Amino acid sequence: MGIHDLDFITAKLNELKEQGVYRKLAVLESPSDARCIINGKSVINLSSNNYLGLANNPRMKKASIEAIEKWGVGAGAVRTIIGNMSLHEELEKKLAEFKHVEAVLVFSSGFTANAGVIQAVVDKGDVIISDELNHASIIDGSRLSKADVVRYKHSDMADLERVINEVKDKYNVKLIITDGVFSMDGDIAKLPEIVELAEKHGCLTYVDDAHSSGVLGNGGRGSAHHFGLSDRVDIQIGTLSKAIGVVGGYVAGRKNLIEWLNHRGRPFLFSTAAPPSVAAACIEAVNILSESTELSDKMWDNAKYFKQKLDALGFNTGKSETPITPVITGDTQKAVMLSKRLFEEGVFAQSIVFPTVAKDGARVRTIVTAAHTKNDLDEAVAAFEKVGKELDLI
Ligand SMILES: *Cc1c(COP(=O)(O)O)cnc(C)c1O
Repeated sequence: MGIHDLDFITAKLNELKEQGVYRKLAVLESPSDARCIINGKSVINLSSNNYLGLANNPRMKKASIEAIEKWGVGAGAVRTIIGNMSLHEELEKKLAEFKHVEAVLVFSSGFTANAGVIQAVVDKGDVIISDELNHASIIDGSRLSKADVVRYKHSDMADLERVINEVKDKYNVKLIITDGVFSMDGDIAKLPEIVELAEKHGCLTYVDDAHSSGVLGNGGRGSAHHFGLSDRVDIQIGTLSKAIGVVGGYVAGRKNLIEWLNHRGRPFLFSTAAPPSVAAACIEAVNILSESTELSDKMWDNAKYFKQKLDALGFNTGKSETPITPVITGDTQKAVMLSKRLFEEGVFAQSIVFPTVAKDGARVRTIVTAAHTKNDLDEAVAAFEKVGKELDLI
């Protein structure tokens, strides 16, 4: 065996296999929609983040095709060199108006938005106060900064205040970071309490709305808007990859913050601008959201309908308050089996196990979208009922 065989990686892969956590990627052979072809089989899709069904929206596709015809397929450079097309500026202006903030800066993904913004905003001598269940991109962004990081128990306001009191006299900038909606349980951050504590103790607030952009807050303006706190949350991260249906991330806030990121946001400075087709599709998505709340109303209606049916059957759906509905099995093997049997019954809903969730918190996670029909949801519920009984979950 030679050095080029990367045996040390094969050994690590074998460890994953022994732990039963090795997996192969499912292959989608159709657009992401309510019903999809996955691994050659037609199924009801309950695993996408395509909350509003925009990933295959005709208006957005048209805008995207027209942008390709007019602008080509690539931006040609990073924004700071010559990749800054008027389309990018238009998207940011529209997003800022939609979010009711002074300014917005778009990154190539929500992940890079967190990676770039956190490290640019806080420095040595500052502290990040982070919910223990925050997304991986917040954790990585925090590591890339020179600030210290302290964690508080998930959505535990007494613990948050304990941490704030511990650190508040030792640091310059104190930045509280939380997901707006937590992706595994579908619970909403307690923003009113967080903002109140922050103001009381002189901290700044940073909310990652990846799962709330397009979902929460009057037609999708985000969690701060949902709670009427748009002017009291300092930094809002949004994604264009989930409910908006395309790809990209953004930061929304004060003009000076955006100007600073123009100079110090590393993924913005050193990674090529989004293709014009992406910017054009996102602009059309914001137009659609600005015109009416029809899609988000339909999504919420579907989500409530589906959750209520699962609850009535006796499934444990945890503390979800959003279209993310976990079906908690506790046991890892049961979650894996539930997902496998659902697929055989024509429903795609992925299992999520340790270390993504706690050891006894294994689950199948479902996300209902505006694209689902009541018929899709009834069929999915029937499959859950059949398999749930088989596996003694209900
Ligand atoms: C999905 C997600 C991201 C990453 O967004 P992308 O645009 O897919 O890179 C960031 N933060 C949270 C909380 C997420 O759920």
